[in-house]
Amino acid sequence: MSALVHVLDHPLIQHKLTLLRQKDTSTNSFRQLVNEVSMLMAYEITREMPMQTITIETPLQTMQSRVIDGKKIVLASILRAGNGLLDGMLQVVPSARVGHIGLYRDPNTLQAVEYYFKMPQGMEERDVIVLDPMLATGNSAVAAVDRLKKTQPKSIRFGCLVACPEGIAQFHRHHPDVPIYTPVIDQGLNDHGYIVPGLGDAGDRIFGTQ
Ligand code: URA
Repeated sequence: MSALVHVLDHPLIQHKLTLLRQKDTSTNSFRQLVNEVSMLMAYEITREMPMQTITIETPLQTMQSRVIDGKKIVLASILRAGNGLLDGMLQVVPSARVGHIGLYRDPNTLQAVEYYFKMPQGMEERDVIVLDPMLATGNSAVAAVDRLKKTQPKSIRFGCLVACPEGIAQFHRHHPDVPIYTPVIDQGLNDHGYIVPGLGDAGDRIFGTQ
């Protein structure tokens, strides 16, 4: 597997993902588990963020200590399911900025169509983590990153709960420079563009709309 696909195989993430997949998991539990998994994922996704050394004063003396380099991180949620990953990530990176990308999937073509896009100012200095729970056909992720690249951010990473080979291939065909962070790569897509075995419709399960 490409170095640009990071499989987050920490036992805590895998355990919670198993609970998420189960069809009898309630909306309340599902949402809580997505929060917990995304918090753990943030810990892994930010692992390779560039750092700088600054001078600080402890109560005892001056010292050199490390902080994340650059302006604040942007969490870019692909609406609406990406929003489910925000709270957990913000627990770990509370000063992150949040952007939103509104795309819907045309049910016939499975292509992504943009209806909303809002990012913070100064994107040239920011590191972006794009969030969408399911990397399925890859079309939404490709369209989101196409649009984001026009804002010229310093770096882009893509985080999801479940990926599949078709989605990864499609994404990296268009954006070979953007690393994917996923706990798992499932078997593939069914005829409706859903990941199997997957976890169903992530948005519906997070928001209780099925
Ligand atoms: N979107 C989902 O929510 N689930 C899938 O399996 C594919 C796309």
